[in-house]
Amino acid sequence: MDYISTRGAARGLNFEQVTLAGLAGDGGLYVPKSWPSFSAEEIAAMAGLSYVEVAVRVMQPFVGEALDEGELRDLCEQAYGRFSHAAVTPLVQLDGRQWLLELFHGPTLAFKDVALQLLGLMFEKFLARQDKHLTVVGATSGDTGSAAINALAGRDKVDIFMLHPDGRISDVQRRQMTTVWAPNVHNIAIDGSFDDAQAMVKKMFADQEVTNRFAISAVNSINWARLMAQIVYYFFAASQMGAPHRKIAFSVPTGNFGDVFAGYVASRMGLPIERLIVATNVNDILHRALSAGDYSTGSVTPTAAPSMDIQVSSNFERLLFDLEGRDGAKTAERMAAFERSRNMQLDPAMRETAAAIFASYRVDPDEMALAMRGVYENSGQVIDPHTAIGLSAAQNADIDPSVPVVTLATAHPAKFPDAVERATGIRPALPRRVGDLFDREEKYTKLPGDYDSVKKFIMSNATPSDG
Ligand SMILES: *Cc1c(COP(=O)(O)O)cnc(C)c1O
Repeated sequence: MDYISTRGAARGLNFEQVTLAGLAGDGGLYVPKSWPSFSAEEIAAMAGLSYVEVAVRVMQPFVGEALDEGELRDLCEQAYGRFSHAAVTPLVQLDGRQWLLELFHGPTLAFKDVALQLLGLMFEKFLARQDKHLTVVGATSGDTGSAAINALAGRDKVDIFMLHPDGRISDVQRRQMTTVWAPNVHNIAIDGSFDDAQAMVKKMFADQEVTNRFAISAVNSINWARLMAQIVYYFFAASQMGAPHRKIAFSVPTGNFGDVFAGYVASRMGLPIERLIVATNVNDILHRALSAGDYSTGSVTPTAAPSMDIQVSSNFERLLFDLEGRDGAKTAERMAAFERSRNMQLDPAMRETAAAIFASYRVDPDEMALAMRGVYENSGQVIDPHTAIGLSAAQNADIDPSVPVVTLATAHPAKFPDAVERATGIRPALPRRVGDLFDREEKYTKLPGDYDSVKKFIMSNATPSDG
């Protein structure tokens, strides 16, 4: 499988190259040259298979020559063997129509483990082949950093430098990063906000003094391999619920549009999805775009679901590329205009195409708390704030009431105990496997919020690409 950039000008890459590269050289995002597709018989044959077997079938066409079937299966067995539930991503029924797909049974209690555990193993495999050293640099407001550190700790030929805003992430989130002691893990607390940290990372990717010596890479959801790994659980859940003979809908708590884009790819591949519900909190740029064609940025309002507090959704560009008929030049023009004006209007034809598969719903803090309380009272389930936004959207979105809806449960409630306790009166306990998090010693470097200090620290601790 070849990969092309959404902005049409970067050179095409194969799967191995695209996994190590992250962003395309023309500023665009890599996507497969065409969407592979499965027949109804192939989907029917997934019923009853293990998560790993579904993963191998769904990902093989994207991986192409980079991994043979045995190698891919081996990596999936290792990655998903680290999940604490035998089903990997179990389905839970809430009532006659609503279901949860629990994606939080990985090591750091959020769905990002599903993709990052696999990505860590792929990095190690590809770097060994190329005899190259990689330096992962990222900024986190919580979940991505802990999942990436857990996935990369102790792996050969890769270092990770993760910046977080000092004092502005939860204790659980910080400790999940700073109590991981491995020589290749470097936690940096910067004096500043998440946006300051993110701006430094962006600057570093464009700094030739850094990029000439070090191969730097990203682990956020602009990385294609992450999205690919997330397509799997849509197939896994749908085939257990009767696909291809019965249509189902998914409700997805959305921030960067990565997780729900993976659902879109599943539908392009032939999975009969009735509708994908894009659930947002009050930071609702995606709801405005899909319901009224208005993709314009405002300022971010902090909420109890911080992983959805975004201004711009990077992966929306991948959808725009398809809506523009996969025309890279047109997408590049559209994105350049957006980067200047912070505002974009979708044409009626684009909106109509998007509306055939996407619905959207904006959930305010009261509706979120109501969903948490309601599901606890009616089924005894305790859910996290992100999942509650998905569930509230699932209950309220305008779709055919005869279709079952699966809400993606993206985080374990114990990751956000204060918000859960406020809504339900229950303070969820950390699962046993991470239970000693508060007894382990922390290790991180505090740096002032200026680019030069961070750059100096990374350049003196990272390994050059040929090292
Ligand atoms: C990252 C995250 C999201 C948003 O996922 P996107 O792929 O960015 O849309 C939702 N919930 C939780 C708990 C997350 O960590």
